[in-house]
Amino acid sequence: MATIFTKIINREIPASIVFENEKVIAFKDINPQAPVHILVVPKKEIATLNDVTKEDFEYITAIYQAIQEITKELGISEKGYRVITNCNSHGGQEVFHLHFHILGGEPLGALVK
Ligand code: AMP
Repeated sequence: MATIFTKIINREIPASIVFENEKVIAFKDINPQAPVHILVVPKKEIATLNDVTKEDFEYITAIYQAIQEITKELGISEKGYRVITNCNSHGGQEVFHLHFHILGGEPLGALVK
């Protein structure tokens, strides 16, 4: 069954898309944890960071290129931002389609529990 993010890629459910190319889509998180909260998602269903293979590295490269473009476009690149990938239960992963959270728009504080 398609993941919720594949349904967004296929336009089966709506999302506020801020970036898209052949390999990557990025859209606003539905439950933002900061003034800017974007999810960057490969257009391939990779369940977790543990499942990334050498063949997938082109997606990882494309994701980081997209992060550079998106943060510049949204005007948060200079002041800075945080990129997070949650993995499995201890990481708090809820959607099992690899994704990178971009958080920014204000000082985020320390990376603690
Ligand atoms: P994670 O805990 O890393 O798996 O994060 C999943 C993220 O997906 C959460 O921050 C959710 O708010 C977000 N999310 C779930 N469904 C949607 C949706 N339909 N559109 C946008 N963001 C979503």
